[in-house]
Amino acid sequence: LLSPAGSPIPTIFAEMTALAAKTGAINLGQGFPDEDGPTEVLERARAAISEGTNQYPPGRGVPDLRLAISEHQARFYNIPVDPDQNVLVTAGATEALAAALLALIDGPDDEVVVFEPFYDSYAACVALSGAKLVGVPLKWPDFQPDLDELKRAVNDRTRIILVNDPHNPTGAVFASEVHDEIVRLANRHDAVVVTDEVYEHLVFDGGVHTPLATREDAASRTLSISSAGKTFATTGWKIGWITGPPELIDAVVAVKQFLTYANGAPFQPAIATGLRLPDGYFDQLAATLGAKRDLLVNGLQDAGFKVSIPAGTYFTVADAGPLGATDAADFCREIARTAGVAAIPLTAFTTPRHRAEYATLLRFAACKRREVLVEASSRLQWLS
Ligand code: PMP
Ligand code: GLN
Repeated sequence: LLSPAGSPIPTIFAEMTALAAKTGAINLGQGFPDEDGPTEVLERARAAISEGTNQYPPGRGVPDLRLAISEHQARFYNIPVDPDQNVLVTAGATEALAAALLALIDGPDDEVVVFEPFYDSYAACVALSGAKLVGVPLKWPDFQPDLDELKRAVNDRTRIILVNDPHNPTGAVFASEVHDEIVRLANRHDAVVVTDEVYEHLVFDGGVHTPLATREDAASRTLSISSAGKTFATTGWKIGWITGPPELIDAVVAVKQFLTYANGAPFQPAIATGLRLPDGYFDQLAATLGAKRDLLVNGLQDAGFKVSIPAGTYFTVADAGPLGATDAADFCREIARTAGVAAIPLTAFTTPRHRAEYATLLRFAACKRREVLVEASSRLQWLS
């Protein structure tokens, strides 16, 4: 077993995607867009391949992408990032997370605090690193952590507080009091803050994402992770990055160089182009997805689910309790066949200790074409 949660093969995403393919269900399970992203980005990758950008890129990432990441951090967040010292390009956020955990964990006495439910790779990577995972539950319906529970979870053994904000699978955006408490606890117990900000540009209703690294009292102990997948609809390219203080970045480089060494040569210049797109692109991205979220939320409510309205991300969590569900995973398998819509059970993202709290909750992805969401909503009415 790789993971305290028990790492399944295949992952829940692969299982539900395969089930959707087999049953003809609309796949609102795995979070990937069903439309291509910006033409400029796609064209730049094609050109890079034609120009012969097909061999190993530098291990830290091509200089122009590192520069574009630094420009992006300055433009959106006013965070100063030196492209040579403070940036590492990775094989998606997934590799950045794995390399950061493997780099920072010394042994079994170290603890990693995570908010649960969590993205499925967290528990597996914490287990691979040899550390102990300490889960802080996010509770229905607003999924903000209880600050006392957070305080109890952090102690001098805490090596890392791992913060996914905006949060998958719940769609929550953490309140500023939560950020305050995370930073206070990290400073008090000398922990590193690792943030997963892959949904940074997917915050709705005029909200803005605030990285923890913008806080003066956090910057020197924070590693910030993001990825191009969600921002440019290129989840299959696996271009991610991590920014932070040089000594922490160097520790992550030391691991990354033996995981993949380097990755995605022709995609790196293309993502540099994406990161330099005008503000209008990023605004439009959030507005379009926000409208799709509304469509999905309405469809789920009409079908009889109770819904937690997400503030960001691809995802909406719905309670199938009112429809008679008692086991989210069984219910997901059942509705793929009966209603023809695939979702993901939140129980796939929890430790056994807190699993019961999520027993009837399902995650639906809104990052699909409008007509697909309309058809999915109409199929879901079969449940009501
Ligand atoms: N973190 C979170 C919260 C995610 O939702 C995902 C993927 N959807 C990842 C990390 C992985 O990102 P990537 O595909 O860039 O590896
Ligand atoms: N991050 C995507 C999601 O949460 C899927 C990633 C995967 O399939 N591993 O749906």
